[in-house]
Amino acid sequence: MSESVRPGAGGLAERLTAVQGGIVAAAAAAGRDPAELTTIVVTKFQPVSLLQELAALGVRNFGESRHQEAQAKAAELLQLDLTWHFVGQVQGKKARQVRAYADVIHSVDRASLVDALASEDSVVDCFVQVNLTDDPSRGGVAPGELPKLVEHVLSTAGLRLIGLMAVAPLGAEPRPSFARVRELGEQIQQFAPNAKSLSMGMSQDYAEAIIEGATHLRIGTAITGNRPVSG
Ligand SMILES: *Cc1c(COP(=O)(O)O)cnc(C)c1O
Repeated sequence: MSESVRPGAGGLAERLTAVQGGIVAAAAAAGRDPAELTTIVVTKFQPVSLLQELAALGVRNFGESRHQEAQAKAAELLQLDLTWHFVGQVQGKKARQVRAYADVIHSVDRASLVDALASEDSVVDCFVQVNLTDDPSRGGVAPGELPKLVEHVLSTAGLRLIGLMAVAPLGAEPRPSFARVRELGEQIQQFAPNAKSLSMGMSQDYAEAIIEGATHLRIGTAITGNRPVSG
C-alpha cells in the first residue's frame, strides 16, 4: 500500500504491523526463528471494541490483568475463540474463577495461590512469576524461593507449568534482568523439564527480551496506544 492511500496512518493496524515488524527484526538479530514467539496483546483498561478490532486484524492471544474486566471480556468475545492470558496478580478467592476463562495464567507467585488453583477436573497452563525487585508488592516469588514454589506447582493437580514470567524492574537496564530469568529457567528445568517458556518483554523492552530467549511477549501500549485513564 502506498504512503498516500494508507488508511488510518498512526492507527491500530499500523501499530500492530510496526510491532510485528520489530519482533521479526529483533528475532533475526538474535538468530532466532520468529515462529518460536507468541505475541500477547495486553488490553487491560481497553474497551471490548478495541479487542474486536484486533481480532479482526488476526490477533488471537490477549492479555488481561484485572479479573472482573477479563472475565467480562472473555464472556463477551466467547464466539471468537480467543486465547486468554491472565498476567496480573490473582487473589486467592478469585483463583477458581480466573482459571474458568484463562487459557494461561502467567502470575503464579505463592503456595497459597497454587493450592487455590488446584483442580482434579481440568488442566491450565501456567508460568511462575519471578520478582526481580526488592518490592514484594510488585508480584512474583523471590528467586531464592523459586525452586520450592516450582516443586509445589509440579506436585499439584490441574496446573501444567510451562515456564517463568517476569517484568523488568523500572529504571534498570532490562537485558541483565532477562538474562537472570533465563538462567533461573535453566535451573528449574533440571527438575521441571517442561518449563521451557519465558514470558518476558513488553512495549519498551521486547527486543532485549527476545535476545535473552523470551518465548511469550506481553505487549500493550506499543500496539493499543495509550490506555484510557483508569477510574
Ligand atoms: C500492562 C502489562 C504489560 C504490557 O505493558 P506495556 O508497557 O503496555 O507493553 C505486560 N505485562 C504485564 C504484567 C502488564 O501488567
